[in-house]
Amino acid sequence: MALKHLQSFKNAVQLSALYLIFGIGWIYFSDNAVELLSSGNSHELTLLQNYKGWLFIVITTVLLFLLSYRFLYQKFFEFSEQLAKQKADQTLIEQKNALLNSLINSSSDAIVIKGLNKQYFIVNEAAAQLSGLSINEVIGKTADDIFPPQTAKLINTMDNELLEKKSFTEHEEIMVMPNGVIRTNWVTKGLLTTEKGELFGIYGIYRDITKARENEQEILKAKEHFDYLAHHDPLTDLPNRLSLIEILQEKSDRTPIVPFVLMFLDLDGFKEINDSFGHRFGDQVLILFSKLLQDLFPKDTIIIRTGGDEFVLLLESKIDQHSIQTQMNRLIQTLNDPFNIDQIEVYITASIGISLYPDDSSNYGELLQKADAAMYKAKSFGRNTYNFYNDGLTQEVLGRTTLASNLKKAISNHDLILHYQPQINPNSGKITGVEALVRWNTDEGMIPPAIFIPLAEERGLIIELGSFVLEEGFRTAVRWMSKGIFSGRIAINISAKQLIHQNFLLQIEELLHKTGCNPAWIELEITESSILEYPEKIIALLGVIKSKGFKISIDDFGTGYSSLSYLKHLPVDKLKIDISFIRDITMEPKNQTIVKTIIALAKGLGMVTIAEGVESVEELEFLRICGVDSIQGYYYYKPMDEAALLETIVKMSN
Ligand code: C2E
Ligand code: CA
Ligand code: CA
Repeated sequence: MALKHLQSFKNAVQLSALYLIFGIGWIYFSDNAVELLSSGNSHELTLLQNYKGWLFIVITTVLLFLLSYRFLYQKFFEFSEQLAKQKADQTLIEQKNALLNSLINSSSDAIVIKGLNKQYFIVNEAAAQLSGLSINEVIGKTADDIFPPQTAKLINTMDNELLEKKSFTEHEEIMVMPNGVIRTNWVTKGLLTTEKGELFGIYGIYRDITKARENEQEILKAKEHFDYLAHHDPLTDLPNRLSLIEILQEKSDRTPIVPFVLMFLDLDGFKEINDSFGHRFGDQVLILFSKLLQDLFPKDTIIIRTGGDEFVLLLESKIDQHSIQTQMNRLIQTLNDPFNIDQIEVYITASIGISLYPDDSSNYGELLQKADAAMYKAKSFGRNTYNFYNDGLTQEVLGRTTLASNLKKAISNHDLILHYQPQINPNSGKITGVEALVRWNTDEGMIPPAIFIPLAEERGLIIELGSFVLEEGFRTAVRWMSKGIFSGRIAINISAKQLIHQNFLLQIEELLHKTGCNPAWIELEITESSILEYPEKIIALLGVIKSKGFKISIDDFGTGYSSLSYLKHLPVDKLKIDISFIRDITMEPKNQTIVKTIIALAKGLGMVTIAEGVESVEELEFLRICGVDSIQGYYYYKPMDEAALLETIVKMSN
């Protein structure tokens, strides 16, 4: 502007100077010219002076015209040029605005720009919609005017932080909208500055991610549900085997080491319950049992159903030997009471193996194996008991395979022998029969049948083993009868697997033929639980066996929950009351009732009874008064070899 002034001033000075020189020149030359041209005539002088004046007027007019034309032309040109430029600029701005407007309005994100006074001056349609107002209504308002207090406060805090820190933010925010809807936004906010860096406003972009978050949440929930199903047993809702592995992995990965106890728990005779009362009933038992475990053990105990009737318990508190024993005894005590399901009372017991981390192993796989081995040992102790793992057991478990192959050799080498336990009439004190019990004498000592009979069943050796016992039993009977030493029967144990073997009847025929034994000298003992394993098949088989002249007794009677309805169809002569009812019979009213019921039942069905495991005179007296037909137990005799038995018989007859 100042430059223009200076230029105009210069031009004006030049022009005035030019005019001054011209004027002076004019006056000087024109007067001389007039003087030269005039002849001195005053009229002529006046005329020339007039012409001179006219000429001056004409020349200055032309000059003025030329100058002003040039000046005005230039001015006009400049002005119109400026006007055109202004117009073009205006159009460009309008176009830019339109472009920006359509751009921000086409966005589904809410876009706002506000001044430093927090008043909105640009908002797009999405933003206006969100506020429930029109674009024009929003302009000039602040967040406090539009949003619920908590949202306005949030927006103001964000703005203040941005201004304070001169920064930029991008984050997720849950906001309550003016219509009350809760919206999850992805917020992008920053500051606006001029080209020169002067701060003039704040922009904000709010992207609605509510649906996306909801979807994510749903997927997460579905995943969690799926994960839950994969890790839990649907029946009891307890964690399952997969959980167990993961928990053990986690527990054994900890540093420093945190000791814990692993209990492997297996229900006794659960299969029989399932077979007798059906799977639905069995399921109820499992549910009740899992609840009982949850009630009995400390709250932080992890209880896992690893399958079928197997549970694993992980304990981290109260894990000293004494506390564990107390807890175990409490469990066993509780299991003395029956479960009542659909008005049916069932007794359920458990065998428990216990291993300690890290004492028994710091490897969880091994820890599981050890608890499992300890549990099997507990089963062999006669069930409903617990057993801590000890190292000797490993040898035993590791030795199972060796044991099996040694057993095979022992059978073919005739290293197995039979011991005999007398059965006594409690009134006369006379031996009425003996039970043949197999023994395996090895160089390392005597292996009890409770260990090798299940092993033989498991490895398919029971057919061979059973065949040996039968042949040996038959031969003994023939020997004794032919010498007139003994007139009672020899009871021989038959396992279910042996009985249902397709060759069993044929084998018996052959053995009778081979040994010359009379079936009337032999009683076959079959456990109640094996009858329940394959009821129809075994009932039919027993019928055939009985028709050949053998006597049949049901071993371990009372433990298998056999239903009375089919007992009367069983071709059976004798019920052998299980040892578990005899134990503490003088102190345990429940056992007294059971024993009395079994004796009455047998009488009603025309069967005789024998009580096994009688150890004291009190037990004997009680049973005798109840009317039991015979007694087998340590009170009278332990199982003994043939020589010892014959000696005993001789002594008795003297
Ligand atoms: P089981 O048939 O119930 O045999 C009775 C078991 O109770 C015998 O154990 C016997 O020694 C024991 N016993 C007898 N009186 C008493 C007593 O007063 N108190 C105590 N605590 N126990 C007593 P054993 O000989 O160790 O036999 C264990 C099991 O092995 C038998 O139980 C039977 O199931 C099986 N078994 C034995 N021999 C054979 C066999 O030749 N074949 C088959 N399949 N199984 C056999
Ligand atoms: Ca027996
Ligand atoms: Ca028995």
